[in-house]
Amino acid sequence: MARVELESIGKSFGDTAVLSGINLDVEDGEFLTLVGPSGCGKSTLIRIIAGLEPQTSGRIRIDGAPVDDLRPHERRVAMVFQSYALYPHLSVFANMALPLTMQRLSLWERLPLLRLLSARRRRVMPGIAQEVRSVAAQLQIEPLLLRRPAQLSGGQRQRVALGRAMVRHPGVFLMDEPLSNLDAKLRVHMRSELTELHQRLKSTFVYVTHDQVEAMTMSDRVAMMDAGRILQLGTPAELYARPANVTVAQFIGSPA
Ligand code: ADP
Ligand code: MG
Repeated sequence: MARVELESIGKSFGDTAVLSGINLDVEDGEFLTLVGPSGCGKSTLIRIIAGLEPQTSGRIRIDGAPVDDLRPHERRVAMVFQSYALYPHLSVFANMALPLTMQRLSLWERLPLLRLLSARRRRVMPGIAQEVRSVAAQLQIEPLLLRRPAQLSGGQRQRVALGRAMVRHPGVFLMDEPLSNLDAKLRVHMRSELTELHQRLKSTFVYVTHDQVEAMTMSDRVAMMDAGRILQLGTPAELYARPANVTVAQFIGSPA
């Protein structure tokens, strides 16, 4: 069964259409990459799946159920951002524990908890600390748990952002250019780490990049986008061997 089903998704900002007629099924356990030039609508699409941005038209189902009326934390997805989006005043541990803590608290309990966390009087619920340590061990960031984000390298911050997504055990990981702030050497290393992580977790990844090498080397399937549409969907080998048109061929670098 498809984990994520997008049906006729359209999005406009004011009079400007940025996505139109997006139909896409992401299969359970697959690594699907949205690739395309800057401004083609990749971030907008992944934010719509995450529930961070409402679509103008169309429907989304996750695990077979409509999620259009669900808020981000109610959808079984976790988002990893290019900018990491870590809380600077919280430790690595608190950054990673926060989604779990928020998940287990009712709305009226959340505000005082945030104040407590920022006052550095951490009160961690049983089970959460264990989960955070276990994920930190998998990502080899256990020694960093008491540091602040400012005391970490780019690669370490990216691991923390991944860890914060992993603690929730989401069915679907949504990643928007997670490696683009890293230097070239680390980026290459993190590509293979992400591929390994995907195989180990057996989760579904929807991955956004404008880098065709990333798309072609990491993905089970690639959706090549341009100007708010999907031009072609297929395995990297299919896109390379049989590009649907000149735009795909040029972007992928297929032989003319
Ligand atoms: P990509 O991630 O592929 O680079 P985006 O999804 O960020 O592309 O943007 C697609 C288009 O939508 C761009 O033309 C961008 O300027 C526009 N856009 C994105 N977000 C907004 C917004 N909040 N308001 C108006 N236009 C936006
Ligand atoms: Mg983007």
